[in-house]
Amino acid sequence: MVVLTGAGTSAESGVPTFRGSDGLWRNHRPEDLATERAFWSDPQLVWQFYTWRRDLVAKCLPNLAHRLLADLERRVGDFCLITQNVDGLHQAAGSQRTIELHGSLWTLRCTGCGQRWEDRRTPLPDSLPVCPTCSALARPDVVWFDEALQPSILAAAVSAAGSARTMLVIGTSALVMPAAGLPLIAKRAGARLVEINPAPTPLSDHCDEVLRGPATEMLKSWVERFAPWGALPGGLVLT
Ligand code: NAD
Ligand code: ZN
Repeated sequence: MVVLTGAGTSAESGVPTFRGSDGLWRNHRPEDLATERAFWSDPQLVWQFYTWRRDLVAKCLPNLAHRLLADLERRVGDFCLITQNVDGLHQAAGSQRTIELHGSLWTLRCTGCGQRWEDRRTPLPDSLPVCPTCSALARPDVVWFDEALQPSILAAAVSAAGSARTMLVIGTSALVMPAAGLPLIAKRAGARLVEINPAPTPLSDHCDEVLRGPATEMLKSWVERFAPWGALPGGLVLT
């Protein structure tokens, strides 16, 4: 079983999605700030945006969907959670082997020597963060819109998608490539595709089942439908 999550999975925790009406920050579209180009033209502004996001997420708790997915990881023998989220809420709910396609708000990376380190301080100090080893400017260790995914992470996600029997796609607009291509890889390899999203997406027509509604409610009812028999679609067995 493979699950792909997007920003909608954290919406009920209070984390704004990018394309929702509350997705703007100080009149900037996130797509204009979450780029390497924006960072080098105004690192201060981009760090203010990330400091705001870190402070916001630090006040949020995992919701029922995050907890159910952590539970599925424990109960389904062969399970892989792939997330586009950078908020760390899957891990906070107990998921342990999550593939973070787009990195994490809680890891910084040196723009000089490439070193990565965890930094959970909220708020960050006013001065821009620098590398503890070489003092070069640090950046959030996230994948920006004008950047490529880390090849090893993408390869792991593609391999999981290609061997999925069931793939749940939760709360993603399915617009950001290459993440949006993963469900189609799964589908071509014979997986049953299930989408959970209150709104239609370009993926909806390719799905075997579409659950229109919020992640918490829809995932709960999907799991409950199968839990009494201990068997999930595609022959997956709950232990
Ligand atoms: P998106 O903002 O493009 O789309 C969000 C999707 O969630 C929409 O399709 C919307 O209909 C759906 N949605 C809204 N409320 C929902 C709910 N309660 N339950 C289920 N679905 C709901 O998000 P995306 O597809 O993840 O792509 C945006 C990019 O922005 C990603 O790369 C991601 O890394 C990043 N991002 C991450 C976070 C986060 O970490 N929480 C937040 C915003 C954006
Ligand atoms: Zn460095």
